[in-house]
Amino acid sequence: MPKVQTLQWSLGSWQEFATHITNQRAALEAFSFPFTNAIAEILGIMIRQISSQNIQTGVITVLEVCYSTGTLALVPDTLRKMLDPASLVNVAYIEQTLIPFVPTLKQFIVTHKVPPTFAPYAGIFKSILMQWISMVLGPRPRDIDVPVTIMQNTKCGCSECRDMVNFFKQDGGEAHSFNRIGATKRKHLETKLQTYGGRNAARWSTIVGSPQGLQVCLRVALWQTADLFVEPLDNKTCSISSKATMEVPSSTGC
Ligand SMILES: [Zn+2]
Repeated sequence: MPKVQTLQWSLGSWQEFATHITNQRAALEAFSFPFTNAIAEILGIMIRQISSQNIQTGVITVLEVCYSTGTLALVPDTLRKMLDPASLVNVAYIEQTLIPFVPTLKQFIVTHKVPPTFAPYAGIFKSILMQWISMVLGPRPRDIDVPVTIMQNTKCGCSECRDMVNFFKQDGGEAHSFNRIGATKRKHLETKLQTYGGRNAARWSTIVGSPQGLQVCLRVALWQTADLFVEPLDNKTCSISSKATMEVPSSTGC
């Protein structure tokens, strides 16, 4: 076996190499080849190649090698790469990388017939959920925090601001989409939301397209959704039920 540490291979190449020597395992071991050590070494290299930039494909590729080679002892190290403290300070990483990865990881363990309540998956899903709550959802608002007055203070009479006021009065439900208003109006609304404390009451995101739009969700509504997931934790059942864990509310659009 070459000095593998010196090889600058991609994850895909390492996976092929691991598959190759696994297929040849019996023949190699007949010549005293240290199969188990070699695979562990390869997996160690692969795990170090996982970063926030390739977390989705990287984790799945390495997990595939863990399972195909029977090296399940390195599954926890692989999953821990998702929760690298340096990445977790980045809200965009949690929102745009980590949360969207949950269904993919769920599909992986379903394929491998692993119950999602099994360690280390249950702990990872729980940690992702808690990161989402603390970093993205923010503190739980009190009902009286829904600032009906916020948008009324904008002193702007344009139709979008009037719609926004009505939305905060909850005439418009828990979420409101300002469709196809264009970038200028979108920025206008975002400025008003930022200036008058909208972050305390809502989250918003651009509706991509031409012209652009803006979707606004009340945080109270988001927390009502989150409660479905958080309560099992508060009850110390551990284990947040697998179903809840898998369905982190990532599709709010906000
Ligand atoms: Zn306005």
